[in-house]
Amino acid sequence: MTNRMIFLAFLFVLMMPLRFSLAQSNDLDSLKAEAVSSIDSLAKLNQEIIDSLFSFAELGFQEFETQRYLTEILEQNDFEVELGIAGIPSAWWASWGSGEPVIALGSDVDGIPRASQMPGVAFRQPMIEGAPGHGEGHNSGQAVNIVAAMAVKEIMESKGLPGTIVIWPGIAEELLGTKAWYARDGLFEGVDAVLFTHVSNNLSVSWGRARGTGLVSVEYLFDGVAAHGAGDPWKGRSALDAVELMNIAWNYRREHLHPLQRSHYVISNGGDQPNVVPSSASVWYFIREVSADGIRNNFSTLHQIAEGASLMTDTSMSRRIVGAAYPRHFNRPIALAMDENIKKIGLPSWSENDQQFAKALQTLMGAEEPEGLATELAGITPDLEQPISGGSDDIGDISWNVPTVTLRYPSNVRGLQGHHWSSAMAMATPIAHKGAIAGAKVMASTMLDLISNDTLVEEAQNYFDDVQTAEEQYRPFISPDDPPAINKNQDIMAKFKPMLEELYYDPDRFETYLDQLGIDYPQLTPTEIRRN
Ligand SMILES: [Zn+2]
Repeated sequence: MTNRMIFLAFLFVLMMPLRFSLAQSNDLDSLKAEAVSSIDSLAKLNQEIIDSLFSFAELGFQEFETQRYLTEILEQNDFEVELGIAGIPSAWWASWGSGEPVIALGSDVDGIPRASQMPGVAFRQPMIEGAPGHGEGHNSGQAVNIVAAMAVKEIMESKGLPGTIVIWPGIAEELLGTKAWYARDGLFEGVDAVLFTHVSNNLSVSWGRARGTGLVSVEYLFDGVAAHGAGDPWKGRSALDAVELMNIAWNYRREHLHPLQRSHYVISNGGDQPNVVPSSASVWYFIREVSADGIRNNFSTLHQIAEGASLMTDTSMSRRIVGAAYPRHFNRPIALAMDENIKKIGLPSWSENDQQFAKALQTLMGAEEPEGLATELAGITPDLEQPISGGSDDIGDISWNVPTVTLRYPSNVRGLQGHHWSSAMAMATPIAHKGAIAGAKVMASTMLDLISNDTLVEEAQNYFDDVQTAEEQYRPFISPDDPPAINKNQDIMAKFKPMLEELYYDPDRFETYLDQLGIDYPQLTPTEIRRN
């Protein structure tokens, strides 16, 4: 071999990895393009899932119609489904494929109490007075995941790519009721990445510490002695007194808590009638803080106060954990890869009707200059340097067990009120449908990044091991034997389900749920709606 030949051979070897990765990235781009067009062809399924879940309007732990409907779709698509995981009857775990990477897609499915609202109309009109509704938009996330999974599965099958896709639901997210239990029961052992998705009004992702809080949700139950309220009240010991004293003490203590904490309660049982001294009463607290230690400290303060209330009233006290959520921390390498996909996919193209409807909702909610739907990407949110208080999501617990990100997709309108009927108004309209399709495209592209690229899986794990958990380790708020609060919302759903059933979406008879309801989208003024 001449020197020149050696040099050329050397050059060739040097170039090889470059050529190889270039070919790979071309392949990857074409796989992503394939997924995107396959998702466009799944738009009808996407719309049916969103509209069906909207019409089921089920509250946390009672999502049985949702479970039946979605697992049937998954089984039809060759997913193996296990029902009732982690001792939660309405939960499931659906998996397809084999080998690594194992990618688990999650999204919440439960509704909000009293948020029943006709979709596609810009005025307050409950579908059923007092009934639950999707006033958070949790009817749309499973559509994002299922449609993305179907597109990627098709590609994996045709190209013979190894990997496992899991689809799981956030049951009772509004109660922060299940994800810590999933983690406790080891469901995510062996999972390489969790791609979670949550409804929003833009298409975005974040990494590092997320804004918002974690929490413990705990119910204190007091037991006293019943007596005639007028005949011999001195013989009674009021459990309701204990509840009231506990609340007073907490509200005094609030002044001396760090301002970023959030805490709130409802009296879940205040006794039966005034002339019977309440022998049983309970109060249900959410204790939120921006750090896990802050939550633990405030929870122990609350517990001490409950003990004090029990002492003062001569009643006995017990407690049960209803929910738990760790402050969230999201994975940097996966978020960066996802953000690249977000930039490629972009926001949906909204119609005039969509914009007109969004502005009408914003005006209804008090906006002087309604801005309509987002037309510019919000961009990636990096690790927060200073904590920002706010809501919680029990995806936090999963994010401390496996590399996790949350994709936010634009199925709702900005400027509305959270946990409120206004946030249900767009959730069975073209806005919800288009937003979820955009989300599914980003989800599928990111799944393909993980499947076709070992390094991303490795980098994600390295970030989790060497950065995220280097200084802070997960110490769950629930004990090994706290049961999930699966009886919550049973009574409410027993009351409303028969009425809701009459309004379930029937995709065999109607193109969309708006068609079934006889709504001329966007319906801006209160006129009589005649159901089809
Ligand atoms: Zn939510």
